[in-house]
Amino acid sequence: MDYTKLADLLLPSIDKTPEYYSNLYPERNLKQGAMVTRYAPSPTGFQHLGGVFAALISERVAHQSEGIFYFRVEDTDKKREVVGAIEDSITTLRDFGIFFDEGMVDSNSEKGAYGPYKQSDRMEIYHAFVKDLIKKGLAYPCFCTEEELNATREIQQEQKINTGYHGKWAIHRNATFDEITDNLAKGKPFVIRLKSPGDPNKRVICNDLIKGDISMPENDQDIVLLKTNGLPTYHLAHAVDDHLMRTTHVIRGEEWFSSLPIHLQLFEMLGFTAPKYAHIPTIMKMDGTSKRKLSKRKDPEIRVDYYKTEGYPLISVTEYLVNLVNSNFQEWRSANVDEPCTNFNIILENMSKSGALFDILKLNDMSKDIIAAMSAGTVYDLYLAWAKENDTATSDILTKHEDYAKQIFNIERENEKPRKDFVKWLDVKEHIEYFFDDFYKNSISAGTNFPEQITMEDVKIILRDYIAIYNHCDDADTWFSRVKELSEKLGYAKNGRVYKKNPELYKGLISDVATVIRVALTNRTQTQDLYEVMQVMGEKRVIERLSQDFL
Ligand code: GLU
Repeated sequence: MDYTKLADLLLPSIDKTPEYYSNLYPERNLKQGAMVTRYAPSPTGFQHLGGVFAALISERVAHQSEGIFYFRVEDTDKKREVVGAIEDSITTLRDFGIFFDEGMVDSNSEKGAYGPYKQSDRMEIYHAFVKDLIKKGLAYPCFCTEEELNATREIQQEQKINTGYHGKWAIHRNATFDEITDNLAKGKPFVIRLKSPGDPNKRVICNDLIKGDISMPENDQDIVLLKTNGLPTYHLAHAVDDHLMRTTHVIRGEEWFSSLPIHLQLFEMLGFTAPKYAHIPTIMKMDGTSKRKLSKRKDPEIRVDYYKTEGYPLISVTEYLVNLVNSNFQEWRSANVDEPCTNFNIILENMSKSGALFDILKLNDMSKDIIAAMSAGTVYDLYLAWAKENDTATSDILTKHEDYAKQIFNIERENEKPRKDFVKWLDVKEHIEYFFDDFYKNSISAGTNFPEQITMEDVKIILRDYIAIYNHCDDADTWFSRVKELSEKLGYAKNGRVYKKNPELYKGLISDVATVIRVALTNRTQTQDLYEVMQVMGEKRVIERLSQDFL
């Protein structure tokens, strides 16, 4: 068979060679040990947590090593493509602060010298490599229809042998030139397949930086390289792109691990050096007592937009994900309280093999700590930005009362043990709304929350007497002594110990008195530190609220 003639017949317009492209995209000039990694999503849906996890790890290891991280769009599955998905990936990377050096910057433009970074713009390149394989007798056209392939599979299943296009089942593998031209003349659609030299009785060692060395049977399937529409399969595009873009480390989901024998074979047949691989364990969660994969159907937390609408600061999610990568993160965090989590040195080899276990409660705890450590100004800015997108009524109020809002956010903040009320921005409103008069009035007119054990008669007495002694200039200690004095005068025990000894002597406890004052001011039985709340509300508002007629 004259393979050159066959190659020209099948891909007539391709005149560039693999050498041409190898020269066009030379080895990168980077320092020893610098890693080149990529994030390569398919625009077939919206971003999920696993994607961000892979992107984050890839970006970190590249930049930690002073290498290159790039963003490639793998859009060869045109049937499953979703409009807006490319932009969604780019926005997600930007929002999470995952900076890429090269790649698509929007759906039509890109930066970097190793492009195009969108696979659908790389057709000629894939075809050049396939043409070369055909010329070498390593690839061939296959005219089997879907029906023929299904029929073969059924027979194979009946005979209990490996299904697929291999060995004697690869019926177009040894077609003659005439048979091929005949099929072409009939206008039959065809794919291009790899002529696999593999023997499934032999094994290939697959080295994975996370999983270690695992031996698997060699690939003997004549896998498809080009589909009937001329688009490459993932296998071919992965090999060609990661070679020409000079990727040193392919970091991807573990669902690709079983394809590694194919990829190693393909790299070898194409004459490329294979990159190093790290297959990231799938993110799991506990469901009752068993572990399962995060599910697109059941778990809203798998979607990146969940974190945006709930208002998690994305830095909390990033920190949580970095913490999932290496188990020594917490130790590092305790020793480096003020550093950004991205300064933590990720080591792929130290990643858990058994799967990353996602625990929203742990994420919530981390997020609480992160928000608690922010300044009031930062909380104001970030919350306002979130509210503008998700709760415009609140964002209007915050904009109008900026100073007041910042004072509110400063309550029990910027001290040794800051208060940890907020996991996410969605939680904030309920903790601050009563500071604003319209909300407060509506809440009071819907019903007051004074403790049931205290009569309204006593509520009135407490409030009346408290206004009389209230002095807005008091410091916290003086403020507290006055509440204590008043409690004792009105027959409330100054602490639990005294009360327990002779409950019959008291109307209640000092905490009841404080609760009455708190409810009068906020219509809540629990709030931030009452003294600070009153200081922020200001004298006028405090007096107004305390002196109204609650009946
Ligand atoms: N486009 C592939 C995916 O989304 C990328 C896998 C890879 O990183 O190589 O699964």
